[in-house]
Amino acid sequence: MAETVKPNPYWWEAAPRTETDQPSLPDKADVVIVGAGFTGLSAGLTLARAGRDVVVLEKDRPGEGASSRNGGIASGNLKLGFGGMVKAYGLERAKQIHAEGVEARLDLARFIEAEKIDCDWKLVGRFTGAMRPKHYDTLGREADLMNKHLDLGVEMVPKAEQHQEIGSDLYFGGQVRHDIGGLHPAKFHQGILDRTREAGVAVFGRTPVTGIQGDGDGHAVTTERGTIRARNVIVATNGYTGPATPWLRKRVVPIPSQIIATDPIPKETMDRLMPKRRMLGETRNLYHYFRPSPDGTGIVFGGRAGALTDDPMKKLGHLSRNLIEIFPELDGIGFTHSWWGYTGFTFDFLPKLVVREGVHYAAGFCGSGVIWARWLGAKAAQDIIGNAPADTAFRADDFSTRPLYYGRPWFLPFMVGWYEFKDRVGW
Ligand SMILES: Cc1cc2nc3c(=O)[nH]c(=O)nc-3n(C[C@H](O)[C@H](O)[C@H](O)COP(=O)(O)OP(=O)(O)OC[C@H]3O[C@@H](n4cnc5c(N)ncnc54)[C@H](O)[C@@H]3O)c2cc1C
Repeated sequence: MAETVKPNPYWWEAAPRTETDQPSLPDKADVVIVGAGFTGLSAGLTLARAGRDVVVLEKDRPGEGASSRNGGIASGNLKLGFGGMVKAYGLERAKQIHAEGVEARLDLARFIEAEKIDCDWKLVGRFTGAMRPKHYDTLGREADLMNKHLDLGVEMVPKAEQHQEIGSDLYFGGQVRHDIGGLHPAKFHQGILDRTREAGVAVFGRTPVTGIQGDGDGHAVTTERGTIRARNVIVATNGYTGPATPWLRKRVVPIPSQIIATDPIPKETMDRLMPKRRMLGETRNLYHYFRPSPDGTGIVFGGRAGALTDDPMKKLGHLSRNLIEIFPELDGIGFTHSWWGYTGFTFDFLPKLVVREGVHYAAGFCGSGVIWARWLGAKAAQDIIGNAPADTAFRADDFSTRPLYYGRPWFLPFMVGWYEFKDRVGW
């Protein structure tokens, strides 16, 4: 079975990554953007439509980072949840962050419609399964709090009614959010790339940036293919941040996430396993996120399990065991693809938009970049267009690092072990 599994994203079948034309680099631009994922392209599109001359530099092929590899779940959820944020930052800041999430989700839907991007976007809602009875209570308290302060219409589904949401007996009921949807991430990326180019942005693939030097009058951006001078620079490298931007590298933690795609599943089985074709998640510490493929004929199943190996086939072993734990009737199913990529975490689990020494950094989407990367990329652009800070709750004076952290998460095995332990004892 494993010999036929492709080590590339399932999404690339419908929207393959392509090489860019490589004319010589210009000497200068108004704005240079490093990274051609959702963040970089969203910034580029916003700037070009405001009349700026923009160059995007990408070290691989555009979208080859996380933006065409992800699960396509448009939640904008952050690790702390609403209750956790109220505790950590107080009610007002928590409300501000969540209100921005509501706005960013609506804006995504508006953008896809206005730009006519064919990316299988559907506002199908998301069910989160409780791994323990006490997790169900926690999800219930969270739902009450969100309904009280954010009017989101969050619903709880008890275990007795769970099969209306998911054909699994593993969970102790769960929570439904109706404001969350799903899309095809590689088609979405391709759509933004097309619009960005049509707006006049020059996007260069296979052009790694090696350094950025400010000189009071702008910046010199050095690459392996030459140097470009620019008044403004936006760094949009998130989980793929490297040595060219050491300040950011010390602040973003690259955490691998991996996904598998199943062989086609008969419609009657899909109707039983995912009756509402919703996005799905769970409360495990080493959690899984999963969903039907956009055509509804198979399952795209991702998670943190298997994070300690780079081998997609070993990752497949971890994830497929967990898929069968959730859906025992899929025992023996085959898989078509197994792939992975880097998410970018911050130490306080909040995305950041920071300007330092005249360079904009938009990063740290903590596994929720379908909403936040596009949104904060546009905010970075608005800063530059308006020559003043655009309105966002993620503007950070506190983008901190930790002692002994230089960009390689040496603590990952300990973290994974700790989360495994917590999941075993039901914490
Ligand atoms: C497997 C997986 C599943 C995920 N699932 C979801 C999900 O379901 N929902 C969700 O909301 N989010 C999800 N995410 C997270 C989401 O994909 C990211 O947050 C988002 O794509 C980040 O976009 P970005 O543009 O900031 O970064 P990326 O798309 O990672 O792009 C950064 C780019 O910068 C380039 N780069 C780096 N260094 C340089 C350099 N020196 N010079 C030039 N270019 C450089 C890289 O090559 C890369 O292409 C997932 C991520 C992964 C990996």
